[in-house]
Amino acid sequence: MLMMGYLIWFNVAVAPGIINNPYNKRVDNQENKVVRGDILASDGSVLATTEVDEDGKETRVYPFGNTFCHVVGLSSAKTGIEGMENYHLLSEDANVLKQLANDATGEKAMGNTSITTLDMDLQETAYNALGDNKGAVIVMEPKTGKILAMVSKPDYDPNDAATDYSEWLTYDSTDSVLLNRATQGLYPPGSTFKIITALEYIREYDEDDYSYDCTGSAYAQGGTTIPCSNNKAHGQENLQKAFANSCNSAFSSIGLQLDKTKFRSLCNTLLFNSKLPINMEHSVSSFAVDETSGISEVQETAIGQGRTMVSPIHNLMITAAVANNGVMMKPYLVDRVETAEGTLVEQYQPQEAATVMTAEESGLITEYMRSVVTSGTGYALKNASYEAAGKTGSAQYDSSENVHSWFVGFAPFDDPQIAVCVVLEGGYTGKDAQYTAKKVFNEYFK
Ligand SMILES: [Zn+2]
Repeated sequence: MLMMGYLIWFNVAVAPGIINNPYNKRVDNQENKVVRGDILASDGSVLATTEVDEDGKETRVYPFGNTFCHVVGLSSAKTGIEGMENYHLLSEDANVLKQLANDATGEKAMGNTSITTLDMDLQETAYNALGDNKGAVIVMEPKTGKILAMVSKPDYDPNDAATDYSEWLTYDSTDSVLLNRATQGLYPPGSTFKIITALEYIREYDEDDYSYDCTGSAYAQGGTTIPCSNNKAHGQENLQKAFANSCNSAFSSIGLQLDKTKFRSLCNTLLFNSKLPINMEHSVSSFAVDETSGISEVQETAIGQGRTMVSPIHNLMITAAVANNGVMMKPYLVDRVETAEGTLVEQYQPQEAATVMTAEESGLITEYMRSVVTSGTGYALKNASYEAAGKTGSAQYDSSENVHSWFVGFAPFDDPQIAVCVVLEGGYTGKDAQYTAKKVFNEYFK
């Protein structure tokens, strides 16, 4: 499924987009008149600029190389912010006198500058925390949707694109350096999906009435046997404890108690099976259960396996909605656009995407996610100086022992300032995803 996701992305999404987009061609005519503007980090550090030599030859330069490669993107391929902001970077809003002077002398004007929401320290921390693993790290303010960091690996040096891009295109899809896994990767959500299963359960039932005796696995007649991690018997659990323990037996049986139509409807509200409200290239998450689904598919889906697939940015948006009283914000990467001289052209404001759950529901899920850290599988964050809430996940994707490792969470749990999503692809080395997330939280709250 994972490989299929990549292949679909390459064949359907990217190739025609790059080659056939007439909008890009039209805007690119501007390149004869305007020197492409700069892309800056939130502190003013230059992430992309255009150097012009004596002969007027222009070279796009990325001072921080690999660290920002996917999120800033490539001007040549119109990916990332380079693609999103193409129009602004090739527009010049300098005053009329300056424009007239440029026209008279034939001199090229300087394009506008995009000042992003990206935080230098958090981006570098996230980049280093991911290490040599394949995967993604994204950091967002849940209250605004502001993206503070976005990293995907494997990565590339955008300064080498002129010579190496055609070779990068030939890479096997699972090894692709061009794929921005943060937005375009599709993975089974594993146990992070229990956030959604729990939400649907508390909508249909009274959580106080829930109790379950875990014996280490759960068999359903006509379905399949779902084991808990290492076949551990979790014993007697209420819903909060089952969530903190990430008890597969409990949650697969919860899945069978849910109304399939309502479950699907919730997932559609959460933006499964549809485009996300972001300008950047991304893949559509899928939720496959409907009225016709069989028992084993429902058991598997309830614990984030089966045919459910999610992108990291989407998983982060759902987590951030929990952190933001049920209001899902539109993620955004550009704070404002200025002229080359620093005059404001456009200022972006936080925007709500949708209210996806009630404040009461988000409060309850937050409690559950807090107990993951205080008494459950999120132990890496237990003794941190800040009080985090989160959900771990490990997702099987083939018959091997390898799993993808997930962490989604936010801190402080009672007044969330940042939400973090980490996915480490199967075969990762070192500790699991919660430790990667911890390095990012540590940097933010240091
Ligand atoms: Zn269990």
